Amino acid sequence: MAESLPETLNMKDLPTKQVKLSVPPLNEINEVILPELLKNFESVSVDVVQCPDLTQPPFYLASEGLSGDENIFDIGSPSYLLPLVNRNKVYDIKDFKQITGTDPIFAVGAGAGPWPHVGVNSELAGNVHMACSYVKNSSRVVKINSETKSYELEQLPANETRFALLANFYTSNGVRGEVLRIVCEKRKGLLDFVTSIRLALSTFYGNQIVGLGGVILIENGKIKVHVMPDFSKVPINSEEDLNKWLNFFEVPSPLVCLGYLVSHDPGLDLRPQHFHSFSEHGAGGHYHYDTDPTTIKYTAYLNVARHIYRVDQPAEGVVLFGKD
Ligand code: ZN
Repeated sequence: MAESLPETLNMKDLPTKQVKLSVPPLNEINEVILPELLKNFESVSVDVVQCPDLTQPPFYLASEGLSGDENIFDIGSPSYLLPLVNRNKVYDIKDFKQITGTDPIFAVGAGAGPWPHVGVNSELAGNVHMACSYVKNSSRVVKINSETKSYELEQLPANETRFALLANFYTSNGVRGEVLRIVCEKRKGLLDFVTSIRLALSTFYGNQIVGLGGVILIENGKIKVHVMPDFSKVPINSEEDLNKWLNFFEVPSPLVCLGYLVSHDPGLDLRPQHFHSFSEHGAGGHYHYDTDPTTIKYTAYLNVARHIYRVDQPAEGVVLFGKD
């Protein structure tokens, strides 16, 4: 059955809300998150450091750093995926700079892959650096092979900067500057790395909104991920339906996770945390939590965002696909 492919939506034409975020000094953030991390991990170090060159292994990012005009984007919504897909929701990372004026712009984050290119629904680890006449696209998608039911990772071509349905991106000029380096090993508490940081920020800062984005390297251990299969032909109406539809895997390290977390939602139907992983060994997908507490090692380089841009917020959100 031939299907016509949708036009990519122009972000300029979509409703966009801009909210100024709280931007505490990096040292203060370290002091705020340290106690919660110490509750959940045996070994913790938090420092403010000059960002390493993130284009190098083991990171494989499209630009060197996370600094300069730092922002986060929450685009679309799970309600464009559930209960049934809305195939008109196709966006493009190249439109981000129309919204923020950031040039060059380096975008890293988690979203749904560009199904018109991939052929099926997929998990996008977005990783794009672009200026007027330059695009470096190191984005990967992870999809389900419908025959083997296993995951497959592929790199997107330079000109394929689209995504679909929903995404959560951290953007900057991509230059090197001061960032948080957070290293945690051996989990002893109930909370995973991302949730520990987010809850500590949320408890301390209350209604002030703090957003952190960048890269989390899973250096050792394993994590639970999901990978979306192709769009469901039957409506997904409950968490049970959703978990039956998704494919869950335990994947080995090393893994690179891209995305952001935000401490408070001022009523924008924000995704509070969202990271997608990729690797050089073919594994990746949506990060849930680590599954082998004795061997896990996280090393994150994160920076603070100045604004959040909420693009194409639906009239009504869905609570499925909630907190992680
Ligand atoms: Zn995801």
